[in-house]
Parts: sequence; structure tokens; C-alpha cells
Amino acid sequence: MMLDSFELGPIRPPSEAYSLLIRATKNCPWNRCKFCHIYKGKKFELRSVEEIKQDILAAKAIQDKLKEISWKAGYGGRVEEVAVTILNNPPNEAYFNVALWLYYGGTSAFLQDANTLIMRTPELVEVIKFLKQTLPSITQVTSYGRSKTAAKKKLEELIELHKAGLSRLHIGLESGYDPLLEYMDKGVTAAEHIKGGRKIVESGISLCEYVVLGLGGKKMWREHALETANVLSQIDPDFIRVRTLTIKQGMPLYDEVKNGNFVRATDEEIVEEEKLLIENLDCHSYFVSDHITNLLQEIEGQLPQDKEKMLATIARFQSLSSEERHNFRVGRRVGIYNQLDDLDNSRKHSLVGHAIRRLSGDGKQVDDETIYSLMERFI
Ligand code: SF4
Repeated sequence: MMLDSFELGPIRPPSEAYSLLIRATKNCPWNRCKFCHIYKGKKFELRSVEEIKQDILAAKAIQDKLKEISWKAGYGGRVEEVAVTILNNPPNEAYFNVALWLYYGGTSAFLQDANTLIMRTPELVEVIKFLKQTLPSITQVTSYGRSKTAAKKKLEELIELHKAGLSRLHIGLESGYDPLLEYMDKGVTAAEHIKGGRKIVESGISLCEYVVLGLGGKKMWREHALETANVLSQIDPDFIRVRTLTIKQGMPLYDEVKNGNFVRATDEEIVEEEKLLIENLDCHSYFVSDHITNLLQEIEGQLPQDKEKMLATIARFQSLSSEERHNFRVGRRVGIYNQLDDLDNSRKHSLVGHAIRRLSGDGKQVDDETIYSLMERFI
């Protein structure tokens, strides 16, 4: 029995950076979305409850080993100091994950991969209960799920999952506009998004819905913003998180761009789209932009009361001169700026000016293609 390693999937939401990662299923059962490359070419697999339990036991064995090292080193069982050493030179990825999780308190776990809800409810309940019994420091268990799967589950099943300890579901809403969902082959309709989302909210499980800014391209951006706001307002999730469309080789959308079927929106057009989205949200969600791909990562707040504050950030960007907007876009995409206030930092500003001269060739404007590719380096 391997107790010094366990399975790890490729991704988790940014907000789960410090969670223990337990792979409940492998890959994505849908795997057709045009804008997603994560699991392409990989077959979906359910894992048996026994296999998942073995992984949980392996995580516990690693945790116990770190505690033992801490006692021996005179740290009285506190793992922070030991975790730092492991993080600098981990024997494997599982050790790295456990050390990071313990370093940040050891309180949350994230069940991978793309749609854990597809598991039979009694099995998922058993996994969550076992996880919490085996690692009692865990107070929060979260996972990814698809709206369609949530819509098909009975409300009682979701309530049972919540009672077992499932605290939050992260759902890729992406858009609320049906023709765009269809074009992107998302495999879900706006009505199913609403049905699944409402059921999750009703069950008591905290819900985080993800929206892709720019997904409508130049053609559908307006409807994408308006219908997404409409669907989100009907769901009224706890969190709305935005990320910006990135297009990489391996995504079907990459070919759509190459053959001219999909024309990308620029950063400035996406900011206009985000403005329309926020203006039309009528809900009580906490809005977050904590993804590296977002131009204006500082847009964050509680709806409805912070709506004006969030729109003011957009207005501030839009009121800049075109040179300054360009300077900010490049500064964000080369990783020099984090927020609009950074424009006032003369050292950073001149570094960005230097980058623009280097990247543009003519010393004036960096073209959109180059800016997209700079952004895509981050993911
Ligand atoms: S459902 Fe999620 S993980 Fe699966 S293909 Fe679509 S975006 Fe990717």
C-alpha cells in the first residue's frame, strides 16, 4: 500500500490554493467545451470509494509524518516550520500539497476533478464523512460541479451532501446566453444553470459561479453580458467570480479563431462588457475578480451595496487617456502592474514604457495579438 503519495488532478479554483486536494473522480465527463483544454484527450473515470479512502489515508500518513518530524526537531508537533522545509524540497507533489495545506491551517479540502457531483450521492456522502473523520481539522469541503448534474440531483440529495460536510460548490456558469452556450458546446442551457444553481442555494451549500469575460467575442458580447447578469440574478449565488477568456492550442476555440469564426474582444471591449454585466446584476453575491487573467483584478465587492464602487473602478480605467490605457494593459500583461494605482508609480510606469518600446517595434502600440499572448503565458 502506497502511503506516501496520492493522486492529484491538474486544477483547483484560485480560492482553493491552500486546500488539501483529494481526487474523487478523474478528468471531465463532458469534456467538450470549446474554450477548455484542461482534460482534452483524457478519459473520464469514476474512482471507487475505496481508492479515494486510500488517498485520504495517505494524506493523513504524510500529515502524521510531518508532525513526528516536528516533535523530533523540538517544535512540539507544530508543523509550520517543518512544512516550510518540505515546501522547499518536497519528495513528491502529495507532500507539497499536504505541507502547504498544513502551513495554512489545514482547515479546507477540495475534491477534484471537474464534476464530483456526478458520483452517486451515497458514495460522495461516504467520502466526505470519511475525509472529515480521518482529518478532523478540516472544517470546509468544496468541489467543482456542473449545473446540469446539480439540476438532475434531487434537492434532498444536495441537502444530504451539505449535512455530510460539503460546504461549497464551484460551478462554471461561463455565460447565461443560450446561443453562446450552444456555440461553445457547454452542454447546458441558461434554464439548467438556473435550476441547478437555485437547487444548490436552497440546499444550503455555498455556491460560487464562474463567468468568462470575453467569451462572447466581438459578436455576442452584449447578449453575453446581459443574459449572464439575468441568470446570475435569478440564481443569486454566494459568490460570482470572473476570469478572462484565454485561448490556447488544444482548445477547439483556438481553431475557430484561426479560421475566422470567432473574433476575440480586446481588453477595452471586455471592460465595457464587464461594466454592462455589473450594471445589470440584481443579486446579493460577493463579486470577485481574483484571477490573474483579469485586467482589473481590483474589482471586488458585496452586491448590491458595492456596485457603484466597482463601476467607479471601470469608469476610472475608461477615463484614462488612450496612451495610459495602453500602458496599463501592457503593464498588467507583463506582470508589472496589479492595480490602477500602480500607474502612479513612476518606476513601474517607466518600466512599462520600456516594455512597450521593446514589444511594439515602432515604439508606439503593442498589437492585440501580442497582448493576448502575454496574458496567456500566465496560465
Ligand atoms: S465542463 Fe468544465 S472541465 Fe469540462 S470541458 Fe467544460 S469547462 Fe472544461
